[in-house]
Amino acid sequence: MASLWRKILRTGRVAEPAPPRPAAERFPFGGSVQVRHVDAGSCNGCEVEIASAFGPVYDAERYGARLVASPRHADALLVTGAVTRNMAEPLRRTHDAVPGPKAVVAVGDCARNCGVFAGAYGVVGAVSDVVPVDLEIPGCPPRPEAIVEGLRKLTGR
Ligand code: SF4
Repeated sequence: MASLWRKILRTGRVAEPAPPRPAAERFPFGGSVQVRHVDAGSCNGCEVEIASAFGPVYDAERYGARLVASPRHADALLVTGAVTRNMAEPLRRTHDAVPGPKAVVAVGDCARNCGVFAGAYGVVGAVSDVVPVDLEIPGCPPRPEAIVEGLRKLTGR
């Protein structure tokens, strides 16, 4: 048992280096960002990866990002999926409900440019066609590492 503790102390914290601190006028969240996730029409693949990013292996919370249940408690929206007709207005309202300053992160290729759902009859457009987007995380779906990296750009930790 003592040797295990010695090894833990010797190893310390293992993580990629922190990104440069974001410009305060761009992401003024002071190292901590509360995130509300919005599924605007995803296939659920991106949600699986977001769940993984906040799970015990990738643990995005150690970098200051935390999921919250209400947009009124949030600093940022994490939006997945091409925006469907039914979700365009709820996404707009959710964005309005987030107190400023706020950021919007488009997660996955569908959120960025409609991805495989481009041109589908039920799709209004990409997230940026409905609300202003500050950060994009590419991939179909993006790997948890990429999601954590994107969130670290918001927190600067
Ligand atoms: S980017 Fe890929 S995984 Fe994410 S919602 Fe679109 S099709 Fe699904």
